[in-house]
Amino acid sequence: MSANNDAALACLREVFGYEHFRPLQAEAIAQVMQGGDALLLMPTGGGKSLCYQVPALLLPGVTLVVSPLIALMQDQVDALAQLGVGAGFLNSMQTDKEQAATLHALRTGSIKLLYLAPERLSAPSTRSLLQSLHVSLVAIDEAHCVSQWGHDFRPDYRNLGVLTGWLPGVPRIALTATATRQTRQDIVVALDLAAPRVLVGSFDRPNIHYTVSGKRPGNTQLTGFLAQRVKQCGIIYCLSRKKVEATAENLRGLGFNARPYHAGLDRELRMRTQREFLAADAMIVVATIAFGMGIDKPDVRFVVHLDLPKSVEAYYQETGRAGRDGEPASAMMLYGLQDVVRLQQMMAQSSADDDYKRIEQDKLNALLGWCESAQCRRQPLLAYFDDVGAEPCGNCDNCELPPETWDATQDAQKLLSCIYRTGQRFGAAYVIDVLRGSQQSRIVDNGHDSLSVFGIGADTDVRVWRSLVRRLLVEGYLFADPERYGALTMRASCKLLLRGQTTLFARKDLQARAAPRRRPSAVDSRIAPHERDLWDALRARRTALAQRQGIAPFMIFHDATLLEIVKQRPQSEAQLLEISGVGQSKLDRYGDDILSVVRSCAAD
Ligand code: ADP
Ligand code: ZN
Repeated sequence: MSANNDAALACLREVFGYEHFRPLQAEAIAQVMQGGDALLLMPTGGGKSLCYQVPALLLPGVTLVVSPLIALMQDQVDALAQLGVGAGFLNSMQTDKEQAATLHALRTGSIKLLYLAPERLSAPSTRSLLQSLHVSLVAIDEAHCVSQWGHDFRPDYRNLGVLTGWLPGVPRIALTATATRQTRQDIVVALDLAAPRVLVGSFDRPNIHYTVSGKRPGNTQLTGFLAQRVKQCGIIYCLSRKKVEATAENLRGLGFNARPYHAGLDRELRMRTQREFLAADAMIVVATIAFGMGIDKPDVRFVVHLDLPKSVEAYYQETGRAGRDGEPASAMMLYGLQDVVRLQQMMAQSSADDDYKRIEQDKLNALLGWCESAQCRRQPLLAYFDDVGAEPCGNCDNCELPPETWDATQDAQKLLSCIYRTGQRFGAAYVIDVLRGSQQSRIVDNGHDSLSVFGIGADTDVRVWRSLVRRLLVEGYLFADPERYGALTMRASCKLLLRGQTTLFARKDLQARAAPRRRPSAVDSRIAPHERDLWDALRARRTALAQRQGIAPFMIFHDATLLEIVKQRPQSEAQLLEISGVGQSKLDRYGDDILSVVRSCAAD
């Protein structure tokens, strides 16, 4: 046992160049080294991969890694090669020749980790192949894909249970960053894990700053945000392909290195964009949710949602792509009533059964409730993942500038009577216009200018009315009927509000929020003027080394590692090896280069 622990720590230091395990890594490794099964839940960037990579190096034979991220298998194999670890992959996008090369490498024993796409499990040859290898461990990455209730269900993942029969007694570890209780149970059952040790890490990502605001017309919210983040990498999510294209185009016009990404674009082009992004120092990908699963680029500095995501889970997963390196990062979401209606329409039109639709609707409501909430953003996010008891975080919009709340009961009553008197036939825009006393011909033609509710809300800003409508939708008082173009319909619970038997407190939609404080790119801000030359020289050398091998610069060293080199100015191989992120293999490959750069930029 403890010999195992010692060996694991030695491997961490020698191969990966890290001094200590992060929380739960040692526990997960110990569990599989003893032959047991494990389910590991850690946020994106928590360090899950190491939990099977270290055992893979310590155990005899091969570790099988099931992963749906076909497009990233090459990157994973490249990154391991940098560490001096033999790895290969099998998936349906390879040529026969590439597959033959992997099979050959497996036979000659030069592969310690074999990445396998789940669809390979239904190929008849796979069973005999796996049984002919000495498989010591099976790792199932992105394990939430087995769950129908998760946001990323893959039918192929349902097949993974067969591995128990094919490889009896081989320990298995399932890994995921998304797991509510339901998903967790699904994983254990569908994968047929035997008395797994369930290890749940904290889901907090303290370095990510959250901001959520209502959409205002025009682009100023986005451009204002980006103006403070020039020369950084980020992802901007939109709901539709059209909007993806238009936004990317617009940003390019403003001088940003922005590219579109959605499932309608040519596959080659998508692959190229993804590769460029992985290697980039300053690039924005504007994308639908087709982009990003498994993007483990450490230095994504921001994630923007220009439309509402589908659920809290999806939002957390998407924003989790920012700041994997632990440096400060931002997540900004802009949302509007339009999004809610759109998403509800999409749900209504889908062919899924009613139960599923109801679950989706509930998830959307939970997310909207979160958007409109006046409390710390992080607390309810963590609570959603059963991570309760956190203090207000101090690193979100609501903590920094607590929104005021107001007793909105009377206004809600006005709104509801207006909906009632106009026959529950109109969308929010029309109802609000009537309340505010607009003289539009449509209102006059309908005779709605003579209703008692006409103009009774003229003193209240249209944005406040909109936010109130959202709130009533979220709380289930109102329903925006997608089959009637979002016509607002009242639910039974409205009676309570109308009779004053319940009250409604709402956040003031803060239209005049202070501009977010400028947060300088964190690594940059820690470089003193006299260190700048060395920093630039190291980065330039890293880029050159990466280009020569056709890999991303961060696969050679992370920024954090270069920063430590700048601070420590190592003079010998032994000193260089002390730096976090420098292991034996990288020392052998890059030690001379780095030391010579350090020497040539003598400190002054
Ligand atoms: P996940 O798969 O959980 O999203 P990764 O396995 O990609 O996360 O790890 C995220 C980053 O953290 C990687 O760059 C990895 O090298 C680094 N990392 C993992 N474990 C440690 C550790 N014990 N010490 C320092 N860095 C680590
Ligand atoms: Zn907070």
